[in-house]
Amino acid sequence: MEKETLIIVGAGAAGLMAARELSGRFDITMLEAQAIAGGRIESIKVDGHTIEAGAEFVHGDLPVTRKLLKEAGLAVSAIAENMYRKVGDELVDDTPTAGWEEMLEKMGSLKEDTNLRDFLDRHYAEDNSTALRQQAISFASGFDLADAETASVHALYKEWSAEEERQFRVVNGYRGLIDYLRENCIAAAAVIRTNATVKTISWEKGKVTVTLASGDSLVADKILVTVPVSLLQKTESVAKISFTPSLDDYEQAAAEIGFGAVLKVVFKFKAPFWEKLNGFIFSEEIFPTWWTQGLSAKEWITGWKGGPEAALLSSQDNESLLDLALASLGNIFDLPVAALRDLLEHAEVFNWQHNPYSRGGYSFSMVGTEAARQLLNEPVAQTIFFAGEALYEGPCPGTVEAALTSGLSAAKKITAASLR
Ligand SMILES: Cc1cc2nc3c(=O)[nH]c(=O)nc-3n(C[C@H](O)[C@H](O)[C@H](O)COP(=O)(O)OP(=O)(O)OC[C@H]3O[C@@H](n4cnc5c(N)ncnc54)[C@H](O)[C@@H]3O)c2cc1C
Repeated sequence: MEKETLIIVGAGAAGLMAARELSGRFDITMLEAQAIAGGRIESIKVDGHTIEAGAEFVHGDLPVTRKLLKEAGLAVSAIAENMYRKVGDELVDDTPTAGWEEMLEKMGSLKEDTNLRDFLDRHYAEDNSTALRQQAISFASGFDLADAETASVHALYKEWSAEEERQFRVVNGYRGLIDYLRENCIAAAAVIRTNATVKTISWEKGKVTVTLASGDSLVADKILVTVPVSLLQKTESVAKISFTPSLDDYEQAAAEIGFGAVLKVVFKFKAPFWEKLNGFIFSEEIFPTWWTQGLSAKEWITGWKGGPEAALLSSQDNESLLDLALASLGNIFDLPVAALRDLLEHAEVFNWQHNPYSRGGYSFSMVGTEAARQLLNEPVAQTIFFAGEALYEGPCPGTVEAALTSGLSAAKKITAASLR
């Protein structure tokens, strides 16, 4: 019997995971806009060191990611989780802000969901709550890339109250996971076409016709779309896909999922002036968060800025962002920028907002996102399916785990639809 044909748009973690799962049952063609697979997993080698432009940490003992890493024979190493904070002129051990636990309890007992700003205005308006307010807002923007004006308190509570687990890095880079999935897919006869940007999808029940930017077109029985949710929203991008007939309610649902901005800088200095500090450093600087890369890469340090302020800064060019990041680091360590420039051996600036294939970092839940996600997880006429980190409904949103799990869940739905 001839296999059904399936097109998968996007060869990131979600698309590849689904392709691997479905390649025995379907005749699969993956269409990837960029020159290589991986999407928001992008490991770059410099002087033997792996720089992660996108995903870097494995946030705990995540079932799908850890199983896959093990299967692929990819080693992980636990990261140093020391936390420091710049307070006045000093770098001190970071301790939870007074009242944090009570705030979490209040968030947990909130019956009707609201956004973080409204929650803080209602419960923490007094002057003596300033530190707590700031901490909550910087947590939301730093970790979740979320905007306090829209971020769901229910969703933040779920994430912030989860038990902390050890975090890991993939020793030779997250890219190993993508290479492993890609090889599995190719071995199972899936075709992966790169530099293949999908522009339009015309559909009827049981048939899709896809047009690429090159003008080529392809036909299949079903399609799985795994592009970042930002590209399903109304946006200007070469990678924006239009559907005929249009899927207005799906586009509306995509707009109800938050998508955060992020700027990441990676520096190599001739000498590690942060000396014995090994872990995460938090501050009030423009680039507020920094982390070291462990003892095996002690000259490297990474800076991070997420959320609405990162969105505002992202219109600046890379040279200006590099200056701002160096100034932040100089202020934290009381060193003049000129001295830092002399010590600087290598610099990378990753401005994800300028990447037309993601237009930002990763998703966060707004009030109303849950229902929007449910709709996007519903197949259209058993013919169009969606997946990707933003469609994941579990406890670790915005992660590789979220993308892999969503890919698996889409694969189940596609299999079920073909058995009908
Ligand atoms: C800076 C940064 C840091 C992160 N840090 C972490 C971390 O430490 N740990 C963690 O677990 N996660 C992290 N993440 C999140 C993680 O990278 C993502 O959740 C995950 O990689 C998303 O996978 P995906 O398959 O859903 O989407 P993507 O990886 O974005 O894959 C979608 C694919 O679709 C392609 N595409 C887009 N438009 C089209 C089109 N029109 N036609 C064809 N193809 C198209 C894209 O090129 C892309 O390859 C980070 C992300 C960023 C940006």
